[in-house]
Amino acid sequence: MTMASRSENAREETGDGTVDTTEPESALETARRQLYHAANDLDIDPNIVERLKYPKKVHEVTVPIERDDGTVEVFTGYRAQHDSVRGPYKGGLRYHPDVTRDECVGLGMWMTWKCAVMDLPFGGAKGGVAVNPKELSAKEKERLTRRFAQELRDNIGPNQDIPAPDMGTDPQTMAWLMDAYSMQEGETTPGVVTGKPPVVGGSEGREEAPGRSVALITQLACEYYDQPLEDATVAVQGYGSVGANAARLLDEWGATIVAISDVNGAMYEPEGIETAAVPSHDEEPEAVTTYADTVISNDELLTLDVDVLIPAALGNVITEGNAEAIAADLVIEGANGPTTSAADSILAARGVAVIPDILANAGGVTVSYFEWLQDINRRAWSLERVNDELEAEMQAAWDAVQSEFEQRDGSWRDAAYIVALSRIAEAHEARGLWP
Ligand code: NAD
Repeated sequence: MTMASRSENAREETGDGTVDTTEPESALETARRQLYHAANDLDIDPNIVERLKYPKKVHEVTVPIERDDGTVEVFTGYRAQHDSVRGPYKGGLRYHPDVTRDECVGLGMWMTWKCAVMDLPFGGAKGGVAVNPKELSAKEKERLTRRFAQELRDNIGPNQDIPAPDMGTDPQTMAWLMDAYSMQEGETTPGVVTGKPPVVGGSEGREEAPGRSVALITQLACEYYDQPLEDATVAVQGYGSVGANAARLLDEWGATIVAISDVNGAMYEPEGIETAAVPSHDEEPEAVTTYADTVISNDELLTLDVDVLIPAALGNVITEGNAEAIAADLVIEGANGPTTSAADSILAARGVAVIPDILANAGGVTVSYFEWLQDINRRAWSLERVNDELEAEMQAAWDAVQSEFEQRDGSWRDAAYIVALSRIAEAHEARGLWP
């Protein structure tokens, strides 16, 4: 397989003329870099690009909670709303000590591109609270969530901004948020958040959706490069919600999963791992290596000579330092931002195809969209319908990106961003600038 190299000056596109060579890059840097990069290739009104550089609004709130010992502790929460030209804002809420305003803005922009590449009628947002959720009891986490929901109440809603789970938050967090919002509104409003438990309006298949979309995109990419899935060897970094679901589906569809990993290291079986027999992060946390005969490191997993590499654990793992050593022909990004832009250029020059996160793991936000549709229509879908519709959406997004990829001398990432940005720019042009 061959691919044209990305623009040589990709790392100069920081917008302020400086050359950024430090790694890892922040979410905001990455999101802006992708915006300039895609805009360079498109005949877009620069005034629209200028508007997209900034979030529409960033809400910063103080969230005081009573700890179990009776003391009061105050946390800071954010909700960055980037762009809503195509529909209500959509994006996760994370509880993590490193949450900052800028990180929320960057990740919110990323959501704008992700929703647009999937052609969902949503814009992008991200938020969170700077807190270590592991230091909170369940009751404290509930109080934090209810108070945060109250502080954000005027700015979220099924037609305004629809949060979802992210790092440190889960379906239970979304159920509390939905309850707090509904109690204040005086009516049950399930459509205010997605990723809820199905019993309160969550969707079947939501939990598995990002991993399922990674598997579907892997299948489509293998087809594109004439690599039969039954002959493909696959290494997957991370065996959580994304990694384990993707690995198990690909295993079921005939691929040979030769390596899987968690934070402790990787299990390596050249003849193929029986993925159903190894518990995922959710089923038994960090247990992968205890089931392995042969353990290798996560770094070794990344450089295995496989057909497909799926980084599905965390960001910035394929860097300038190891990009030359990546031996896979195809990288499918399961995690958000696993490839730094320096690594991206190296992989492109070497002819390694990288299918970007905003397409590959977008099954999560796509099934969130289905959940929102079910909530506002008060009608639940079967798991079969969710999976069928997800497959159709992934195929449509793949087709749009593939067509762009074939028309231009660039990477799959460029193609995905161009598809996204042209949809957003067209919507801005059609709506115009108020007043
Ligand atoms: P998870 O917590 O379910 O699982 C993470 C897995 O990665 C675990 O197996 C963990 O042991 C492993 N891991 C953690 N640190 C590691 C390290 N240093 N080296 C190797 N493995 C390590 O998380 P997830 O929900 O599967 O998310 C994984 C990635 O996918 C993240 O980047 C996340 O942002 C992204 N993502 C998740 C979703 C979603 O809805 N779950 C959607 C889109 C993108």
